Amino acid sequence: MFDEVWRSQGEDVAPGVAAALLHLAAAGDQPVLVVSRPRPPEAPERPRVRWANATLAALLGAAPGDLLDLAVGRVLRGADAPGALVRERCTRFTVEAVTASGEVRATEVAAWPVPERISGFGAVSERLRVDVALAAEDHWVLQLLSPDDERSRAALRAAEERFATLAQDSPVPTLVSDVGARLSRVNDAFASLLGVPAQELCGTGWLTHVLDDERGRVAQAVADVLAGERVVFDTRLRTSAGQVRWVTVRLAPSRTPGYGAGFVGTVEDVTDRRARENRLAYQAQHDLLTGLPNRLALLEHLGELLPDAACPDAAGVPLPPVHPAAPVGVLMVDLDDFKTVNDGLGPEAGDAVLVEVARRLVRTVRTGDLVSRPGGDEFVLVCHDLPDESAVEATARRVLDALVAPVEVNGLRLRVAASVGVVLLSGEPGGAEEVVRDVGIATHEAKAAGGGRWALLDEDVRQRARRSLRLVADLREALARGTLDVHYQPVVRPGTPTRPHAQLLSVEALARWRHPELGPIDPATFIEVAERANLVPALDAHVLAVACRDLATWRAEATAAGLPHVPRRVAVNVSAVSLSADGFADGVRRTVAAAGLRLEDVCLEVTETALASDLRACRTVLEELRRDGALVAIDDFGTGYSSLAYLVDLPADHLKVDRSFVRDLRGGRGTGAAGAARGGPARAVAAAIVSLARTLGLDVVAEGVETHEQNDVLVELGCEAVQGYLYARPMTREDLWRVLCDGGTLAPQPAGLPSPRQVPA
Ligand code: C2E
Ligand code: CA
Ligand code: CA
Repeated sequence: MFDEVWRSQGEDVAPGVAAALLHLAAAGDQPVLVVSRPRPPEAPERPRVRWANATLAALLGAAPGDLLDLAVGRVLRGADAPGALVRERCTRFTVEAVTASGEVRATEVAAWPVPERISGFGAVSERLRVDVALAAEDHWVLQLLSPDDERSRAALRAAEERFATLAQDSPVPTLVSDVGARLSRVNDAFASLLGVPAQELCGTGWLTHVLDDERGRVAQAVADVLAGERVVFDTRLRTSAGQVRWVTVRLAPSRTPGYGAGFVGTVEDVTDRRARENRLAYQAQHDLLTGLPNRLALLEHLGELLPDAACPDAAGVPLPPVHPAAPVGVLMVDLDDFKTVNDGLGPEAGDAVLVEVARRLVRTVRTGDLVSRPGGDEFVLVCHDLPDESAVEATARRVLDALVAPVEVNGLRLRVAASVGVVLLSGEPGGAEEVVRDVGIATHEAKAAGGGRWALLDEDVRQRARRSLRLVADLREALARGTLDVHYQPVVRPGTPTRPHAQLLSVEALARWRHPELGPIDPATFIEVAERANLVPALDAHVLAVACRDLATWRAEATAAGLPHVPRRVAVNVSAVSLSADGFADGVRRTVAAAGLRLEDVCLEVTETALASDLRACRTVLEELRRDGALVAIDDFGTGYSSLAYLVDLPADHLKVDRSFVRDLRGGRGTGAAGAARGGPARAVAAAIVSLARTLGLDVVAEGVETHEQNDVLVELGCEAVQGYLYARPMTREDLWRVLCDGGTLAPQPAGLPSPRQVPA
């Protein structure tokens, strides 16, 4: 209002106009006052109130006259600040209005310099009781600004009331500051969180509940929110009952027009959640039985000690290995025969032993060393400062000695021996998992050496174990991807001196693995790997599926090509674990049917040892499949089971004479004692096996036939099927197809000269 008039009139405002303006101001409801200050070059003095209207006086809780001559800074703090009142232009600034009762309220002020030339100002002044010495002083008109529209003010008030109502009844502790750091309102939830009446918390009362060492941080957060930032922070409050509660405080800035910066906030009691989180964090890192750090914590601890291979320096050059001042030793303690305790005396006894062992181990190490229980009956110790082998030995011995005294469980004195494996962290990059694996290898060595002793990881052992672990992983992957191949070795009706060519009868499927980097792996090796990793059932199933598919293909193509001869069936090797696995028989049926074959088209080769080890279970499965048409062969016959009694009623169709009996067969024609004498003991055994098989009604297949001489003896003994390098090595499906194209006949190959179609085993 003043602003416009003054500006439009410039310096030439007439005394009448000035008087009218002041009159207007006196009657208006805008809080207005006039201040003045001696004009330079007088000594600078603070501006003083020269006049105030009734609205302003009421606002400050005073009579207008009470305000006269007061330094303006006393009623409007900040109005006398440098730069607030200038002669050159109108200004706007925030002051704190101080009421008669001492209450302080931030408010915005507009100040207009009064032009010097209103000479009539003094004349009206008397009536308005403004005492001014115009000539000597500079004057300003100050207006306290407030929301100028009554409607918007009412709306604001209503909104504020709504907010207050919501907050008041809200279960969420809520606080409001209209201006500055002092709270103007808090709701019941906040009051009851701290257990004190709301009014005690208003002002700065709530800050006294913040724990001493956190108060600085909280004050900073409040300063930030007053500067316009949203802040969220966790802190601790002490309740009136002395309890400490963890809270998450969320503050958002708020501005009341005419007042200034304040904030609103909520306080969430997170004590229980934090406790739960802490408990979970503890559980995630600890073994609950012994309270020791668990596997995860161990790996993290080791990870901190190991150089980070995946973290090259800025130039991309891998960082050199870290060499700790003295090597860190990792010891694995594995209890010998713990299973006996657990199984024999029950899990509670086992637990008691573990707890006692944990207690003793903790006492053997130095501060800063770690004792963890990654699982089962294994403990892993991480010991710093093992400068040489004698220090390693001393530590390992200390651990073994700690376990010498028997452990008392339920009145029993149990001896717990242990094996200790040790690795020293070399500073070479490598993962924590690898360290644990290596120390496991060392422990295994100690155990293999008889238990109750310690072993430092040997480089050779490490290499071997790593290679074998790698093979396990790679074989698992090859099986998952179906990249394992199958070769076929013909089983033939042997040739005779008059008719030297052999005739293909069936084929035996043999698994082949070409490792992507290591090349072909010997079946004996990868089958052992598969056994260790429990992959044999998957291997057998894979070979069966491929073999069925190939047989079906050969048959279809042979029919199409008008070929006279196809393998009668395909034989697959089935190990005992496969046989005793759940659903084996159904799996075989499904695979065979999927290839469009019948069970009659497959022969399952089972070793004697497999049959003997789990006779009843295997027998049932085999009987079932045989009843439905499948054939069963006893593989490697003669090498396994010592008693022949099991042969009676054996669910089998063929006996495959192991090649160790065939190997030593020598010529010496004739049967009976004379023949046996001439052919040596091998011939006698072979003759006995053939005749035994005949008696039991089983067909005989002789394996490993490599020479004419062996072939001829077997023929003479009445063996009607043979398998061996003499006729064919295991070959690819394509090579077998060529054999079929040749009419299924195979010429004997002189020993040691593999034909082009022969593939090395
Ligand atoms: P096996 O069942 O006794 O298979 C016959 C083995 O004798 C094959 O070895 C074959 O190449 C070899 N052989 C055949 N004729 C001769 C010969 O005249 N002279 C000599 N020295 N060896 C001959 P391979 O392929 O190395 O297989 C070794 C063993 O691995 C097999 O013995 C079998 O027990 C196992 N195996 C192979 N494939 C599988 C499979 O898919 N599953 C299971 N469970 N075992 C398999
Ligand atoms: Ca076999
Ligand atoms: Ca065999």
